Amino acid sequence: MRKLLRIRWILLGMAFLAIVGLTGMNVYSLYALHESTVKATADAQKNQLADFSYTVRNRFRPPVESIWRLNMEQLHADISSTHQLPSQLADVLEEASKDPLFEEIYFAFPNYESCSTGNEIMRFDVDSKQLVEAVDFPEYVCDGFGLTRSRMNVLINDYRFNTKVVFDTHRSMTVALINPRGNVVVAYIAFIIDTNFLISDFLAPQLVEVFGSREQSGMTIWLHDWVRNEVLAVNDDDVEYNRRNIQYIQRFPDLLDNWNLKVLFDKDTAAMAAQTALVRNLIVLSGGVVLLIGSLLVMFIISQRERSLVDRQAGFIANVTHELKTPLAVMQAAGENLADGRVKDPERLKTYGQHIHNESLRLRSMIEKLLDVARSDAGQHQIKPAVYNIADLIESYLAENKSLIAGNNFEPHVEIEENVPPVFVDKDSFATILGNLVENAMKYSSDEKYLGIRVLTNGKMVVLEVEDHGHGIPSKAQKHIFDKFYRVEDPLTARTKGHGLGLSIVKTHVLLNGGKIDVKSNYRKGSIFSVQFPKQKVSENAAKISINSESKVEYAN
Ligand code: ADP
Repeated sequence: MRKLLRIRWILLGMAFLAIVGLTGMNVYSLYALHESTVKATADAQKNQLADFSYTVRNRFRPPVESIWRLNMEQLHADISSTHQLPSQLADVLEEASKDPLFEEIYFAFPNYESCSTGNEIMRFDVDSKQLVEAVDFPEYVCDGFGLTRSRMNVLINDYRFNTKVVFDTHRSMTVALINPRGNVVVAYIAFIIDTNFLISDFLAPQLVEVFGSREQSGMTIWLHDWVRNEVLAVNDDDVEYNRRNIQYIQRFPDLLDNWNLKVLFDKDTAAMAAQTALVRNLIVLSGGVVLLIGSLLVMFIISQRERSLVDRQAGFIANVTHELKTPLAVMQAAGENLADGRVKDPERLKTYGQHIHNESLRLRSMIEKLLDVARSDAGQHQIKPAVYNIADLIESYLAENKSLIAGNNFEPHVEIEENVPPVFVDKDSFATILGNLVENAMKYSSDEKYLGIRVLTNGKMVVLEVEDHGHGIPSKAQKHIFDKFYRVEDPLTARTKGHGLGLSIVKTHVLLNGGKIDVKSNYRKGSIFSVQFPKQKVSENAAKISINSESKVEYAN
């Protein structure tokens, strides 16, 4: 038994450990999931920003795309021989000059010496589709040419393509035409970018079109000129630019070097949604864990109770066998003596007769209790409630048990409130209830032999109280005393005979009659058992009475 108990504790411990482990793992996974959702959202937003920078880059491609299809060898030959703009290139430049992105197109031969003399830089004239001498061109045209020429000087030996594009921040885009055969620069063409058009007609509308407002994209994006610390465009005008709030910067690699996108992520969107999901999941998880632990504990407690019931039953069988044998032995011995005819003295004859009578009464009471319990277990109780005056019921019980009570040196103190209404009970049940309570009051008495029987009214109920000034019941034990086979474990109770059945029988009868039972007790001072009976016959009593599905209630009319 002890071994089984230890195994049960070990299993309970293991189940708790498993629950703690699984819960820990789940909470960790939920947090990891939450983190990865937030990160995935942030990554997706960053990818969108990177994608936008490619969109901007691609805007520069279409007007000059045809350059890549030109035959550079041919072009090189034509330019070297004529020193004029070949027609196939003129067509491409005419096409490009139609794009509002470019203000002007300038041209330089590879061997141009310096920008300062001016006459080596040509301008593409759209009307004549010819190169004309450039006059009064902005200084940065030279910067674009200069930058590209220096780059090519470094790169040319290893370069394997027919053009190289170089951006001078947001001011110009210079294309170096290269003849891959021999790696020689054929010409330089500088496309001057119309910054106003680029910002107002392309970047600003694109920003709003691609990302929408702050609510839609979950971010505020500023197009910022970091050299001049100037905001050029924003996707949501309502948010003011503050460099301290910036969480992410997206550049336009080797394209618009002085500009970048400054981003403020909105906490209220994805992160908040993920946070809400996390909290919801945690609540559901804790609910589940509480339920699991709760049911585990309930199962454990139930099994403990079953075990203690089995223990008590085993004790009861041993006890009851002994209890049945004792009166039988007494009766057998007394009977033998009488049968022999050796006892002649009338006093002794009387004593033997009393022994046999008392022991047979004890035997009968015990057998009745056992039968009562068996009937209750089988759901075969039959009661016939009727309307009775409770004072009459008490009186008839006391009359029948006068000698028993007096034999125990008790004198009942009966107090019945005036005008107590009649009760609706089964007569035999009432006798069983009162009988058991009175027997206990006497059994568990101390030196003070007090037995109080009171009747009073409480709302719709009539209350019967049985009071003693005996052992009393420890408060911890009070909730168990109505359980079958339960006996208080203390030295005072151990000295009295009993099987823990009386109060469980009382409770069954009280419930069968639609009543309630309660106990108030002070250890070593005494107890008051109070039973409430319904005042009169009402239909809902029948429902209450049928607590035991198969118990039968018949109404006496
Ligand atoms: P039994 O008296 O046969 O043991 P009961 O079911 O009548 O069984 O009572 C259950 C337990 O409740 C008793 O063992 C006793 O410890 C306690 N008890 C019952 N009535 C009283 C009382 N009047 N005073 C003190 N203890 C009581």
